[in-house]
Amino acid sequence: MTSTIEAVATLIGDAKRIVVFTGAGISAESGIPTFRDPLTGIWARHDPEKLETASAFRADAALVWGWYLWRRAQVARAEPNAAHLAIVQLAKTREVTVVTQNIDDLHERAGSTDVIHLHGSLAQPKCFACHRIPAEQPFENPIASEGLRIEPPRCPRCKGKLRPGVVWFGEDLPAAAWKRAILATKGCDVLLSIGTSGVVFPAAEIPIIAQQSGAYVVHINPAPVAHQSSRVFCLIGRAAEQVPALVSLIGSTHLLPH
Ligand SMILES: [Zn+2]
Repeated sequence: MTSTIEAVATLIGDAKRIVVFTGAGISAESGIPTFRDPLTGIWARHDPEKLETASAFRADAALVWGWYLWRRAQVARAEPNAAHLAIVQLAKTREVTVVTQNIDDLHERAGSTDVIHLHGSLAQPKCFACHRIPAEQPFENPIASEGLRIEPPRCPRCKGKLRPGVVWFGEDLPAAAWKRAILATKGCDVLLSIGTSGVVFPAAEIPIIAQQSGAYVVHINPAPVAHQSSRVFCLIGRAAEQVPALVSLIGSTHLLPH
């Protein structure tokens, strides 16, 4: 009898185009907090949902910028894990587009080159006033910046305050990234959804769009996120274990005669 992971490896073995759709779970396995739990340490008295809004930035830009630098420092200390690296391996033999809800750069640091950030990126602040992304980022070493309140740098064009280039609560996803993600999803043979509970819309629509476009959908998550069907599979477990195991099987299925 074929196990689920073997069945999935065969599907991917036959696939030309793959979309890897990632969420907080894959970053959490690299030690980046998901903020579902109350904050600890210097931020214990703050609620992340109240720090990541335009109104919070208007009320206290230095507090929001300090929070943002603290998150950058956490990401800078984190390393891509075995799941990030296995995705890079997969892209050596197939067309792989990474669509991520994460704002860190762990996919890029692992070596992925085609990465779409649906929720923006901590690496790319933009102007709160004119929305431009400055050509040069005036960054101090993020690891040194752990103060609670730090005044944001100014936009070189209009002298407005720079804000984190991430999607805050209440904001729309960046239109160009969303469009590219939908195009890739509609064109893929298999969508691998990793470390995402699939509850945050509109990003949660990605697996649905893949399924409606005739692709197979594979969820890799510590808890089941969907009912299995002939076109939907769940591999239950940590991404850093399941993704490398899956990718190593794909290698071996290639060597076997069909
Ligand atoms: Zn500006």
